[in-house]
Formats: sequence, structure tokens, C-alpha cells
Amino acid sequence: MKRPLTVIANWKMHKTRHQAGQFIKTLETLIPCNHSDILIAAPFTALETCLNERSGLTVGAQNVSEHTQGAYTGEVSAGMLADLGVKFCLVGHSERRMHFHETQEQIGKKVKRCMEQGIHVVLCIGETFEEKKHGLTHKVLFHQITSALSGLEAQDLSNLSLAYEPVWAIGSGYAATAVDVQEVHASCRHFIKKNWGEKIGESLKILYGGSVNGHTLGPIICSYDVDGVLVGTASLDPTEFANIIKISRELKS
Ligand code: PEP
Repeated sequence: MKRPLTVIANWKMHKTRHQAGQFIKTLETLIPCNHSDILIAAPFTALETCLNERSGLTVGAQNVSEHTQGAYTGEVSAGMLADLGVKFCLVGHSERRMHFHETQEQIGKKVKRCMEQGIHVVLCIGETFEEKKHGLTHKVLFHQITSALSGLEAQDLSNLSLAYEPVWAIGSGYAATAVDVQEVHASCRHFIKKNWGEKIGESLKILYGGSVNGHTLGPIICSYDVDGVLVGTASLDPTEFANIIKISRELKS
């Protein structure tokens, strides 16, 4: 099955409103931005600026509260994001699991809060180097998937993508090999099919993230079960990010 390409920029805690606006304006001069294959995960403070650019880029958040509303100082709800016009949200990024001690239970709630608001979930999963070394990659990933998606029906998963991001590959300069990525993606797809049905498993987009740049991208994006990439560091510079989109479009067309 041919699944449409998705390339996501994860800006993390980078870019003021001005810088975000400038990035989008520059990107538009470098590549066509109206193909719905480019997504920007911006910091909360830059979301409205990105949306106001009306660029054709899909704008999303990097985090969301597990609560719907109430006395949760500093939190931002899925309803607030939907009200802004946000279309997707990263959930379960390893930096949130690691630095903010997000639990599987919280991640599961965040997935549900987004889905209640019609916000597409990009569920990030990945193993640590220790877990990989001990041959636990699949066990860890399947557990992360099961706990994040517990109680969801096949039709709910049509508003979800997976991003396989090995923790050891994020920001390290060492991307996983294309062979390993394809194997992991295929087994995650098989796991989804087994638990939620053949049809949803076949159409589910699975992206790879972890030190993707113009040099590491080629063999990975060519793999059958890789439907796109989630890019951190290399998404901060519009020229570098445009190059990644260009290569991805060429190799996936
Ligand atoms: C990320 O944090 O989602 C990521 C993929 O980062 P990097 O590209 O810098 O490894």
C-alpha cells in the first residue's frame, strides 16, 4: 500500500515568534509548501504565528495536558489547542518521558484527550541503548504501544501516526541503520494489525526519527515501512529542512 509521505519538524524549545515566521517565509521560497506533507511541531508560544502564516504547512504542538481543564497551572489542554486550529500533537516524546518523567498512563490519557478534540496524534516510541543492547527493543515498543492505545478501537487509530525514535539516536548524530529501521517498523505494523486489524495496520503511517539529516535520510526513507521522518536538530534551519523534504519527496514518489 502506498501511504502519503509525512515530514515533521520538531523545533523543541527553539524559535521565538519572529524566528518561526521567518523560517516559514524562507521555507516557502525554497520548496512548494502546499502538499500537506510538511508538519511543524512548534513551541506553544509560536503556534499562533505559524498558523497565521497560512502557508499550507500543517501546524502542531509538542505536548498537551492529560487533563481536560481545571487547576493545573502551566498546562495547555487539547481543547485549547483545537481552539487555536492546531491539527496534530506529538505525544510521548522520549525527552518528555525522560526529563519530565511522563508515565505510560499519562501518555495514554494525552492520546485520548487529543482524539476527543480531533487532533491527530503522533505517538513517539523508542528504546534506550541499554534496552537495545539486551535485545528488548520489540518488547519495549510493543509495551509502549499497548499502554498508550489501550481502550482504543481500530477507527480511533485512523487519527494516529507512530514515530519510532530510538532514544540513543536522538540528537546523537548516529541514526539507526535502514535495515534495523525497516525491521522495527514492519514488526510494529504487524503488531498493530494483530491487535487492531489488517486494514488500520496497513494504512497507519510509521515515521522514523533520530539524527535524520541530508546524509542519513536516503536509505531510511526508501524502506517500505517508513512513511516519513521526524526531524529535530536538522529542522531548525530552513535550507537543511527543505533539503530533507526535497530528498524525501524524490525518493518516495
Ligand atoms: C527528535 O527529538 O524528535 C529528533 C528526532 O531529534 P534529532 O533529529 O535531533 O535527533
